[in-house]
Amino acid sequence: MRIRILKEYKTILFLADGMADEPIDALGGKTPLEAVETPGMDKIAAEGASGTFLSLPNGFPTSSDVANMSVMGFDLTSCYPGRGPLEAVSRGIELADSDFAWRCNLVTVEDGVLTDYSAGHIEEKPARRLMLKLQDALGSDKATFHPGVSYRNLLVLHGDEFSSNVLYHKPDSSQGESLEDIALEPMTPGNSKAIHTVEFLNDLRGKAAEVLAEPGNDTAGNAIWPWSSGKKPNLPLFSELHPGKTGAVITAVDVIKGIAGCAGMEVVDVPGATGFIDTNYAGKVAAALAAAERRDFVYLHVEAVDECSHMGDLEMKMNAIKDFDSKIVTPVLKAMEGTAARFAVLPDHPVPLRLRKHTRTPVPVAVSGFGIVPDSVRSYSERTAPAGELGNLKGDELLRLLLF
Ligand SMILES: [Zn+2]
Repeated sequence: MRIRILKEYKTILFLADGMADEPIDALGGKTPLEAVETPGMDKIAAEGASGTFLSLPNGFPTSSDVANMSVMGFDLTSCYPGRGPLEAVSRGIELADSDFAWRCNLVTVEDGVLTDYSAGHIEEKPARRLMLKLQDALGSDKATFHPGVSYRNLLVLHGDEFSSNVLYHKPDSSQGESLEDIALEPMTPGNSKAIHTVEFLNDLRGKAAEVLAEPGNDTAGNAIWPWSSGKKPNLPLFSELHPGKTGAVITAVDVIKGIAGCAGMEVVDVPGATGFIDTNYAGKVAAALAAAERRDFVYLHVEAVDECSHMGDLEMKMNAIKDFDSKIVTPVLKAMEGTAARFAVLPDHPVPLRLRKHTRTPVPVAVSGFGIVPDSVRSYSERTAPAGELGNLKGDELLRLLLF
């Protein structure tokens, strides 16, 4: 008789985008995560093991797509395609081999200074209207504009005359800077395709500003910001990367949907998921629990904390962390109590309020559940996690640990 050893368990990874921070004087030297009551995340740390995870290794942009690909265990060196192509995939935009997809923010520029990377978190409808207007006015066989979600839109350049070898500045890291200081530049001086691409984009940005200045636009979006371009992605499948395992992703953010789509993971759309503090928390929990019935691994991503951190708003950040814990982590833990499950919690990267931008500091991580040996760490924070038994994880080590 053949004996089959059943090792069926589900893994839920809770990801709070941009949650990690630094000690803050106004909080008596605590971080926002330490200052907020987070019984759900603390339970994972108390019942499991903690450590840190390096999500933004040197040599890659300090961008959420890099960070989330790291957490999911992809080898960045062999397959990081840039943010534009990942978002294009998630929007169902077919990329030809000679296409270059650029993320194209709608931003606010005042007196030659980038003042808002999100055009005041422009709403989806007016943003869509502006992108379609840009396409009408400026779209051609060389460039097409594509609406996304809110300020997160896309521009595709068509043709081998263009290049991705262009140095850009991440808009969310460049607020308050003068446009001259954060101009596009060829990555290698003298590269004629890169020079042409920069000239083409600068010309297009000038024309786009004129179109956006026309009457009828009452939003804060008065300029476009192309960045992080690349060609059609070629990611390994999740089920090849983690043999025999299937995964699902729940997120409001296009780029993470794109990563999941490229890797053959199920992308679960949740109505009312906004990527901000008004997201449909209950809907995300229900979707995660349903996905866990069908899949081995569920990646439950919440963007709100990141957005509050970029806004530099301490109170909003603390509320967003509280909501993440009480409306996402705790209900899922409760619903799955007594089942063979594993849990992990981490941010994809820090966004210290002091800087309002992503940093490469390794993030705190805690894992618990089926087969995980507990350590002595009793709560979850930037300060407690490094003392845990997991040590300093990087690359695919976290997912290997969760999916072995
Ligand atoms: Zn961010």
